[in-house]
Amino acid sequence: MKDILPDEVGQWQLVEALARDFFPRFGYQELRLPLLEKTELFVRGIGQTTDVVEKEMYTLTDISGDSLSLRPEATAQICRAFVEHSIHKQEPVWKVFTIGPMFRHERPQKGRYRQFHQINCEVIGPGEGEADAELIAMLIGFLEQCRTGRLTIRINSLGCPRCRPAYRAKLIDFLRDRRGALCPDCQRRLEANPLRVLDCKQPGCAEIVAQAPASADNLCPECASSFVLVRERLALLGIEALLDHRLVRGLDYYVGTTFEVVSEKLGGQDAVAGGGRYDGLIQALGGPEVPGTGFAIGLERLLLLAELEGREQRPAVFIGVVGGERAREFGVEVAHRLRLAGQARVLMDLAPRSLKAQLRAADKAGALGFFFAGEEELASGRARLRNLKTGAEVSVSTQNATDSTAEISIVLMDQWGQGAAPGPQEDRGSKGERR
Ligand code: AMP
Repeated sequence: MKDILPDEVGQWQLVEALARDFFPRFGYQELRLPLLEKTELFVRGIGQTTDVVEKEMYTLTDISGDSLSLRPEATAQICRAFVEHSIHKQEPVWKVFTIGPMFRHERPQKGRYRQFHQINCEVIGPGEGEADAELIAMLIGFLEQCRTGRLTIRINSLGCPRCRPAYRAKLIDFLRDRRGALCPDCQRRLEANPLRVLDCKQPGCAEIVAQAPASADNLCPECASSFVLVRERLALLGIEALLDHRLVRGLDYYVGTTFEVVSEKLGGQDAVAGGGRYDGLIQALGGPEVPGTGFAIGLERLLLLAELEGREQRPAVFIGVVGGERAREFGVEVAHRLRLAGQARVLMDLAPRSLKAQLRAADKAGALGFFFAGEEELASGRARLRNLKTGAEVSVSTQNATDSTAEISIVLMDQWGQGAAPGPQEDRGSKGERR
């Protein structure tokens, strides 16, 4: 678990602001959910035999004896919220996104943390086809706007409850004949969760898996035609997605189209985002038979790739106080009013210091302006506002704090051309433009 210190937070805010600007363009609304849920939700939703549920959850018993877990992922709880609030009675299509921390007790390594952050997008309601294509295209569009550089999109179809059992049986048959050559983990998994053998990283297993029957070649006609539609739509939008028979993803609820986005810049843990369809999940959680699909982006990994630049920060103005209590009171009032006005970051010492020390501090902080709020200036009715970059000075009234604040704001905006609030750049386009 990592601390995120102030000099890193700016990048987080840029990505989060871009997400809050970008996903609503596709009709998605933000949803905020609790970090703790009943443990049973994840057991039922994600699957008892998955690594996440078996080994990685942070689980506690509260004082009423309920077993609660810190959320290891968001899809199950988004579906829980969908059921709890009877959304299907209000919305035929529910498009939502969440941004926040997830918790998994994994072996720490580069790119893997025990508290990490995800952006999750889910579209609940539509069946497989157009919705999957729009979702994947939105994901790629977002990653491109974050300027992640070259990405590879891998896609697969895991079939549905109609076609998967036959495929599963075929795969078990194939693997059983080669059991001796599989790693001990895969020998154990073979009967219970044979699909997981497909993404085993052991070289011996990978060799066998390369010859194994592929799920995408064993789909029922409905799954086959909707998977074709997804791939055609992506091609139409200029998005190249590589068919990868080994892409099965770790959680039990996935069916139909699944996908992952990887970057070679990330090293061993190369997936920046992944997702897929979970048509039976809402029903498994006691809700109606409503299908859904979604993805999660890992924010720590996205931030390793993203090259976002913020606009210039607000300029800083240092209120320099020289003299006794009257000057200090005046300085305090001007600083407060300027802070409320919002054009600048306003710096001021909280205890008296020499003018020289204050000028040095202003310089060190990169302040643009220095306001000389001293006893003499108060007496004469005018004080200097110095531009520390150019050395130019402007005379500002000190009749009262309100006038001083207004004049300083005007100088910042009109004369020095500063003072717009910072925000993410919009419509930057992408570095790796395809067309
Ligand atoms: P998942 O929920 O496992 O499908 O993961 C979706 C994305 O979340 C991955 O592609 C990663 O970018 C990110 N992610 C998953 N687990 C971790 C972790 N332990 N530490 C950092 N990022 C993670």
